[in-house]
Amino acid sequence: MTEQRATQILHILRNSFSLPQWANAPKDPFQTLIITVLSQATADRNTDRAFRNLSKKFPITPKDLADARVEEIEEAIRVGGLFRNKSRTIKKLSRLVLEQFGGSLDFIYSLPLEEAREMLLGMPGVGPKTADVVLNFCAGKPTLPVDTHVNRVSKRLELAPSDAGYEGVRVALQALYQPKDYLPVHLLLIALGRKYCKARKPVCKLCPVETLCPSRQLGDASDR
Ligand code: SF4
Repeated sequence: MTEQRATQILHILRNSFSLPQWANAPKDPFQTLIITVLSQATADRNTDRAFRNLSKKFPITPKDLADARVEEIEEAIRVGGLFRNKSRTIKKLSRLVLEQFGGSLDFIYSLPLEEAREMLLGMPGVGPKTADVVLNFCAGKPTLPVDTHVNRVSKRLELAPSDAGYEGVRVALQALYQPKDYLPVHLLLIALGRKYCKARKPVCKLCPVETLCPSRQLGDASDR
């Protein structure tokens, strides 16, 4: 039954939100990696501004960022959060990609998913979400990235167990959807979480999947 509900939810979400144009465009793995590092604990708007500033200052390649001074990277990405840590991570990552992988992340295309995932997870500042974003967005690998919205919304919708950690949520969602839908599911659950299924005050009365949601009473609680 959960499978049927999951399918209906995806159908409604597809009709309720449009996917961003970039969703199907080819993406450079190194740039995606840098954007994802910049996005950690940072609002989208500031992530975009930090990436734009960094791109104005340097070509976003492992060589250019490995050669850059940490202070210059810091200056460029200051608009995003945690800029000191992130600038060090970006420099270390760039050096590692340059020295250990010949300046390219092309292994994500050729290696099997788990092997490529392990290699990414071994890099500084790369956690499961970052690895899964790069693998799915750039190489179309069958892994479904779980960010804070995907985690919260999938649990409220009871598509994932309420006590699941990152891997538990990922595996539960992957079992409910086809690999070709992993990217749309990721993006649409984020869209739902931002507009209606907010962390503090979910707007259940207006939520497009309210009738399919076992947690729809949460909206009443937040009305009080
Ligand atoms: S009905 Fe409420 S709790 Fe359920 S998904 Fe919508 S906003 Fe979230």
